[in-house]
Amino acid sequence: SISDSGDEDSGRVRVAVRLRPRNAEELLSDADFADCVELQPELKRLKLRKNNWSSESYRFDEVFTEDASQRRVYEVVAKPVVEGVLNGYNGTVMAYGQTGSGKTYTLGRLGKDDASKRGIMIRSLEDIIANTSHASDTVDVSYLQLYMESLQDLLAPEKVNIPICEDPKTGDVTVPGATVARVRDVEHFRELLQIGEANRHAANTKLNTESSRSHAILMVNVRRCVQGKKGDAIEITHQERGRTNLPSADVVPRIQKSKLLIVDLAGSERVDKSGSEGHLLEEAKFINLSLTSLGKCINALAENSSHIPTRDSKLTRLLRDSFGGSARTSLIVTIGPSSRHHAETTSTIMFGQRAM
Ligand code: ADP
Ligand code: MG
Repeated sequence: SISDSGDEDSGRVRVAVRLRPRNAEELLSDADFADCVELQPELKRLKLRKNNWSSESYRFDEVFTEDASQRRVYEVVAKPVVEGVLNGYNGTVMAYGQTGSGKTYTLGRLGKDDASKRGIMIRSLEDIIANTSHASDTVDVSYLQLYMESLQDLLAPEKVNIPICEDPKTGDVTVPGATVARVRDVEHFRELLQIGEANRHAANTKLNTESSRSHAILMVNVRRCVQGKKGDAIEITHQERGRTNLPSADVVPRIQKSKLLIVDLAGSERVDKSGSEGHLLEEAKFINLSLTSLGKCINALAENSSHIPTRDSKLTRLLRDSFGGSARTSLIVTIGPSSRHHAETTSTIMFGQRAM
């Protein structure tokens, strides 16, 4: 219902860990090695091997083993956020982890060949579309890439350096320069995602960079016509009321607006600043800037701080109205099993722990 608010899910970042299965190479070369993590899903705990003799245990809101289905990951990580959005609250789902650990698999997989493998983006839109059935309801998406503090439109890649705007009165964050596609149905959304992916690939080939260096941000604006009681704040226009044709008794229609962000973050691997020069050094600084500033915000939320430092990077400025407060936020940290990535896996897990 539209009246629920301030529930236990809002205001804090919920964090899940997902371990991907060994890939073919790891199956061959790592076969003799113990994995660097051990999961205890029933305890929602993860044990990280420190050396041959000891390990450290960490608790999360949820721990997904390599057998966890895409469906289950969606239901636990994203569905509560999507339900919040359908009830009028902004929300964010993001994936953090080393390149190759499963961020895009978790969020962006289209599942064309195998529907059971559909990722969080498609499943979220399916739920949103199924619940926006009123004639005046709308679902608008923009798809953006943030690279070196420059925002690019993935639906119209010639648009670069798009400014982020914040309404000083309402605090609403918008990107008015970006393409807004009004989603007709799930198939239409799938096409938009595919166009975005192709543009992302082309843009990065042209710049000779890798998509793992940029953040991909799907922004979904939802407008729903809901029943409000007389006296509720009414945002509906007269024109809209004419169209919706509702009786003017006690129940009046109200337009409810909310926003969902789904963020496939840049690879979390430390870019080596010492060995980098020129462009690569600049890139390293910028990637570290937005992920570091995201970490600080997550930390501030976990500590119930009154000041969330969202001004430091474009990523956190974009998240500002969809993060903390009444918004629901889920973070999924993705890891691989190999002990060869022990250092990166450790730092990924520590990032996730900052929110707990
Ligand atoms: P990232 O986006 O973090 O760089 P990807 O999502 O591209 O990583 O995943 C890297 C590879 O691992 C891909 O081939 C992907 O299909 C595979 N993979 C990742 N997670 C899983 C999983 N949970 N189950 C099966 N395969 C996975
Ligand atoms: Mg990826």
